[in-house]
Amino acid sequence: MDVLFDRGIYLPSLDLWLDSKRKQPVGYISHAHADHTAAHRKPILTPGTAILLRKLLRRSEPQMLEYGEEYHTPRYSLKLYPSGHCLGSALALVHCKATGERILYTGDFRVKPNPTAEPLGTVPCDVLIMESTYGRKDYVFPPQDEVLSDFFGRVLDWIDAGGTPVVLAYRTGKAQELLHHLLARGYSVALEEGAYEVTRSYEEAGVRFPGDYRAFDGTVRDGEALIFPSGRRTREALSGIRNKRYFGMSGWALNGERAHWTGADVSFPFSDHADYEELLAYVKAVGAREVYTVYGFPDLARQLTSTGYQAAHLEKGMSSVQLKFA
Ligand SMILES: [Zn+2]
Repeated sequence: MDVLFDRGIYLPSLDLWLDSKRKQPVGYISHAHADHTAAHRKPILTPGTAILLRKLLRRSEPQMLEYGEEYHTPRYSLKLYPSGHCLGSALALVHCKATGERILYTGDFRVKPNPTAEPLGTVPCDVLIMESTYGRKDYVFPPQDEVLSDFFGRVLDWIDAGGTPVVLAYRTGKAQELLHHLLARGYSVALEEGAYEVTRSYEEAGVRFPGDYRAFDGTVRDGEALIFPSGRRTREALSGIRNKRYFGMSGWALNGERAHWTGADVSFPFSDHADYEELLAYVKAVGAREVYTVYGFPDLARQLTSTGYQAAHLEKGMSSVQLKFA
């Protein structure tokens, strides 16, 4: 199967774009994060992703597919499975009718349990096109329970000391996941307005949260935790809040430099992506004979090649034809 990468993945023999960042007549969108989306004329996506992208796709004619539902064209069929990353996120299994090949595109995926997304599917395939965000051996996350219990301990300490914990998490996905965890442990939470709006969309899609929460209105109540995206605007919005401490929640916390870059006072390796070992295990589990990695580190593809896989990392403007597996 020929695979091309150019601001998205293109399968020329099927004339199919996967997560193109440029507008296409037809394009599959794996999930609602901005680096995977464009306002395609006919986007193929799950209803959950469609709710999150309502504004972007207001002039589009979406082709919505539930998980497990099949979509047919003369050249291929396409079926979606949960990818565990955020609301509506999906793996796409593309079945080429001419050759019988099964191509699995993962988009961003997460192996560890996520209370606000359906669990990852393991889908047998011939060709795997997989994200490799954390595809470097330094990025093996500790067990999630340990990370969360460490995090909650530190949050509680800060509240007990009369301070306000500010949890840094991007608006779609991680904010809702952490909100769910905080509410389940009885914390009061206020979210930055954008994150609050996204959370309402989650509710509209049927996700339930174990408690009440509110949009941040400039004030903090006693014992409350805040959830905000990281960045300059957050600093400005919270400049009047005293005794705050920023908690960074990111896989990059395993790398001190990147943690500092997010402006967190303390960081925890909590990610909505698979880590290095989970990526390797997923390749094995789906039984792919050909693997293309995208978006992240090229190290993973090298490791796969050294253990006998036909594997390559695709970068900008690169086609699998140029790679010519030995
Ligand atoms: Zn994502």
